Amino acid sequence: MNETASLRARAEIDLAALRANVRVLRARAAGAQLMAVVKSDAYGHGAVPCARAALEAGATWLGTATPQEALALRAAGLGGRVMCWLWTPGGPWREAIEADIDVSVSGMWALREVVAAAAEAGVPARIQLKADTGLGRNGCQPADWPELVAAARAAEDAGTVRITGLWSHFACADEPGHPSIAAQLAVFRDMVEHAEKAGVEPEVRHMANSPATLTIPEAHFDLVRTGIAMYGISPSPELGTPADFGLRPVMRLVASVALVKQVPAGHGISYGHHYTTSAETTLGLVPVGYADGIPRHASGRAPVLVGGVVRRIAGRVAMDQFVVDLDGDEIEVGSEAVLFGPGDRGEPTAEDWAQAADTIAYEIVTRIGTRVPRLHL
Ligand code: PLP
Repeated sequence: MNETASLRARAEIDLAALRANVRVLRARAAGAQLMAVVKSDAYGHGAVPCARAALEAGATWLGTATPQEALALRAAGLGGRVMCWLWTPGGPWREAIEADIDVSVSGMWALREVVAAAAEAGVPARIQLKADTGLGRNGCQPADWPELVAAARAAEDAGTVRITGLWSHFACADEPGHPSIAAQLAVFRDMVEHAEKAGVEPEVRHMANSPATLTIPEAHFDLVRTGIAMYGISPSPELGTPADFGLRPVMRLVASVALVKQVPAGHGISYGHHYTTSAETTLGLVPVGYADGIPRHASGRAPVLVGGVVRRIAGRVAMDQFVVDLDGDEIEVGSEAVLFGPGDRGEPTAEDWAQAADTIAYEIVTRIGTRVPRLHL
């Protein structure tokens, strides 16, 4: 048995698929640059290899939530422009400035901190002003924008910052025709116009996440920020399947069946006995559980491909393992149990798991735990 097959579980990451997806998305947003969003360990796919592959395929920017994630990319030797957007007071502003990372600024406290850090570093900070155009989350409210823009422009004139970008984020880009889409675009255009009249000359203006990249051309501006679609997953089943957009799923999650045994009819399975065998049957033990990010909420529902047949989880998902009813089939110990993958070889997809767990596919892939090795192919 080779080393890969002997692993308890593995997440195979198809970097060729990721590169192909980047090319598809670039074509979709022709004329705009592409930021590969690699926060949260590239949605569970492995930040450094995915970032490298994305740059090879033509992404010019990398995006992260936290500054630590951005610094880790630089520490791994990655070039390209890097931007991060989730700051808290006392964050590593100076390290980010010195690592040539663009930092997002959503309010006055952040501007003050970045200006102080840039003065210490003796290098101007590259900042991108974030507008809350209606998401109601991070970003500067339209009412506070003139003050932020004026203060940032003053810092720019003083040589401590360079305003490289103006940007925002959609609330409902995955719901085609939602009235908030047009409303947010209008607010963004106004806020950009205000900043430009105040003398801001941004290199990039950007709003589009994956759903907007795929379906809202007028939101592309100078740069699109794609996460989920780059990993070959549709932002929402309502928008279509990955194949509808020419995207290929990147992650394949496989476990090695740890035990196969016969049990009689009427045998309760796993904690709480929420499943009982209806006839004499064989059970297969799949050695991954909620500690590995397998949603317990999918107990009794999520599909798994074993021995060429899609089977349902029998009973509850435990911390490290769950059981499938093999319906009397003789399956060898060590056989592959494919939880999800591209779907082209009969296996379920991350979207199928999301449906079974009442969640979104983003959560399914991102939560796969660190105990599961990522094999970048
Ligand atoms: N931009 C920002 C600010 C984000 O937080 C995210 C992810 O949530 C993205 C872009 C990428 O979104 P998606 O994965 O839908 O492409």
